[in-house]
Amino acid sequence: MNESVDRASALRAYADEAAGCMRCALAAGRTHVVFGAGNPDADLMFVGEAPGFHEDQQGVPFVGQAGKLLDKLLGEIGLARSDIYIANVLKCRPPGNRDPLPEEIAACESHLFRQIELIQPRLVATLGNFATKLLSGKPLGITRVHGHEQEVTLGRSRVLLYPLYHPAAALYTPSMLKVLSEDFARIPALIERTDGATAVASPIAVGAAAAATASVHDLEPVQLGLF
Ligand code: URA
Repeated sequence: MNESVDRASALRAYADEAAGCMRCALAAGRTHVVFGAGNPDADLMFVGEAPGFHEDQQGVPFVGQAGKLLDKLLGEIGLARSDIYIANVLKCRPPGNRDPLPEEIAACESHLFRQIELIQPRLVATLGNFATKLLSGKPLGITRVHGHEQEVTLGRSRVLLYPLYHPAAALYTPSMLKVLSEDFARIPALIERTDGATAVASPIAVGAAAAATASVHDLEPVQLGLF
């Protein structure tokens, strides 16, 4: 309980800090920094790409059409938003919803790593190419790796990374939606599998977490900054 309260307040404090972020040019065009939303104690965290129009307006991730599909897919496995945490690679909307630029990802990624460090999820489901490449540290595209879980070290924790197609892509491609739904169906078993997983290093103070989160690596050394 205390740990939970500490985690929620650390996350809130970090969200307040990030709300004033000026690390890249996207700051100039945003309405809101879309930090993330959901349960700070979640075992399951989703990582999307970047806020779209509605997310930028409301300051909440996945509130548009892709978010509605995500809610439906969660419902199919007996979960709701309140059970999970969700964030994006970029916290600010790229103009016209274009792809994130390498320099934007580089500027923003430590916000995501810090969130992961604070939340300490057991299973991180990456939605689409950008989140998958960033958190796996590998250049393999989502078509090749979706549905294939892999153990990675994020910050000080061992987590199971689970790449999925992005719901926005699946919205318009029925065959992709079918695959996404099948991949989703494995999530409860994967969470179960991580039961009892332990941190890889002794606990560190939350305030010192940012430095630790800078190291994101897989079982083998990998090259980061792949975009
Ligand atoms: N909404 C988000 O918040 N992120 C995405 O990646 C897509 C839509």
